[in-house]
Amino acid sequence: MRVFIFFLIGFLSFQAGALRVLVDPGHGGIDRGASSGSIHESHLVLQIARELSNQLTRDPQFQVSMTRDSDRTLSLPDRVRKAEEFSADILISLHANSAPDRKIQGMEVYFQNQMPLAEENYYLANVENQILVTPNKYSSRLLSKLSDLNEIVADLERQGRIKLSLSFAEILRGSWPGSIKQAPFFVLNQSKSAAILIEVGFLKPSD
Ligand SMILES: [Zn+2]
Repeated sequence: MRVFIFFLIGFLSFQAGALRVLVDPGHGGIDRGASSGSIHESHLVLQIARELSNQLTRDPQFQVSMTRDSDRTLSLPDRVRKAEEFSADILISLHANSAPDRKIQGMEVYFQNQMPLAEENYYLANVENQILVTPNKYSSRLLSKLSDLNEIVADLERQGRIKLSLSFAEILRGSWPGSIKQAPFFVLNQSKSAAILIEVGFLKPSD
């Protein structure tokens, strides 16, 4: 895990000027995420997020904040709102995967995708998105947005941050030890900042 944090800091250091980094430990509170015995994703990613934040804070080129610094429940829209309030340049959302197969392992990095909004809508049922989000509520909201003039403005913003996220992806591609994917996670697509979601590894199924 230290290697991962070291690598991430090195990657962020590529960016010129001070960078406002919002570290987002996934899940929390009543939502524990994936579990393996007594190990819960929500606790694990909080620990990693704290260590990442501590490391980043030591470097004056980063201004760092966390979406949560305790084991508390936080909805996905809350996280996006926090990114906006903090004016984050980049949102780093931390998660841990689970797999029934013990042999599966590795870290995965997800970037914002380029799908049209209507298609993203379909993916809102994705497991990382289900938590505290009523799919119907967001489906209808997204669909109504499509017919709105504001959508044009939103689309321009989207293209801007997708471009930024892709440039992060390009920097990572040569040296990142794990896989890099694009996926329509809620926190990635709804935030105005560049955003990445990292599945830090797999929690093994308990025996
Ligand atoms: Zn998760």
